Amino acid sequence: MVPNSHIDDSHEDEYHFIMKCPLYTELRKTYIEPFTNHNTFLESFVHVMSSKVRSVITSVAASTYHGFNLHVNFIGIGRM
Ligand SMILES: [Zn+2]
Repeated sequence: MVPNSHIDDSHEDEYHFIMKCPLYTELRKTYIEPFTNHNTFLESFVHVMSSKVRSVITSVAASTYHGFNLHVNFIGIGRM
């Protein structure tokens, strides 16, 4: 079942995908949260998205890859 807060969102932008969407909570714990130690979601988002550290870039890419597969399975490829 797709979480309501996902359906209610009018858009699935990068910030929503990386930091907020309940559909990707488990992916976030594995791939994003190890690199976030900031006061706000926005600061964490800027940190991971602008990092030049290979392990962070690789982890964000892995999260995106697995998140896309989840998205296709739960929602379908046509709806973003
Ligand atoms: Zn969402």
